[in-house]
Amino acid sequence: MKSIYDLNYNQLVEMCLENGFKKYNANQIFAWLYRKRVTTFDEMTDISKNLRQFLKENYSIGTLEILQLQISEDSTRKYLFRLTDGSSIEVVLMHYDYGNTICVTSQVGCNMGCTFCASGLLKKQRDLTSGEMVLQVLSVQKEIDKLEKRISHIVVMGTGEPFDNYDNVMNFLSIVNHDLGLGIGARHITISTCGLVEGIKRFADEKTQYNLAISLHAPNDEIRNQIMPVNKAYPISELMEALKYYSIKNNRRLSFEYILLKGVNDTEKCVSQLAELTKQFDVYVNLIPYNHVDENGYISTDYKSAMAFYDMLMRKNVRCTLRQKMGDDIDAACGQLRSKYERKKIHE
Ligand code: SAH
Repeated sequence: MKSIYDLNYNQLVEMCLENGFKKYNANQIFAWLYRKRVTTFDEMTDISKNLRQFLKENYSIGTLEILQLQISEDSTRKYLFRLTDGSSIEVVLMHYDYGNTICVTSQVGCNMGCTFCASGLLKKQRDLTSGEMVLQVLSVQKEIDKLEKRISHIVVMGTGEPFDNYDNVMNFLSIVNHDLGLGIGARHITISTCGLVEGIKRFADEKTQYNLAISLHAPNDEIRNQIMPVNKAYPISELMEALKYYSIKNNRRLSFEYILLKGVNDTEKCVSQLAELTKQFDVYVNLIPYNHVDENGYISTDYKSAMAFYDMLMRKNVRCTLRQKMGDDIDAACGQLRSKYERKKIHE
């Protein structure tokens, strides 16, 4: 059965009209789902019994089961959710001065194979549906309703490659962005990609207000090929071309994500090459301390060297930040909690 959370507002309107109901019924349903956040159709008391019955017969309204919740000292919350087919996914909520950011997962596992990332330890099993992504946001929102907090920002940076699940991700975002529902502003939403060029071009053509982040992590093909297999399909020159296309179509600032890996991508030469790449766009570089993953042998650049890297970039007039580490005490590295959980399950 299709989940009611798979439908965006326009689809809900269409569904109502096609089945002899009224357009305003769609507004009511949308409000019950996303404003009042009910979990059964029976609670939608201002819609007719007929419509409620129709919804019950045609759509599921199930939520996600919380398998684990870890709360770190900096109050980052990490959830492990169970989907209806038994798969597990992780979702992180981070509290910043400017609001609460949820990190959403787009696939069960990931096929991109970045060598430093824990998500790729478990290969992709399937794409998530839009409804499953909507439910990540809604389930966490319902939990923090108790604390009178609101999710204000979304980053699609959890497990999975969003542009490998393009339609579902875009549909999901249109649902959580809609004014009649959660109303999370487009400018507060960021999609992060490892660099799937077709996806970037398609995204450029859509001219949304969502932010685009590129997981660059290396300033030349030699290093990038080593740590990100996707670079063999789409080398840096092609990636940059797609980003130029994006910049022309959209007058929006890009961001480059750059994990600092000791002895791999943190040399002075890397600074110069990275600065050269950024010249072509309005771009912001996020330098990220590497979250240790047991399985792969990389070490994070130490704080002093990371500061030096940051200073050198700044002196080359690159806008950048050295991001603080959050949730380090709770398996915050992408996919860590899930891969531990799944392996434990196998060994039990
Ligand atoms: N596939 C998408 C989104 C998921 S990964 C992408 O590649 O952008 C989200 C971000 O976390 C990416 O920038 C990824 O490179 C980064 N990341 C993965 N493993 C990490 C780790 N151990 N420490 C810090 N960042 C990590």
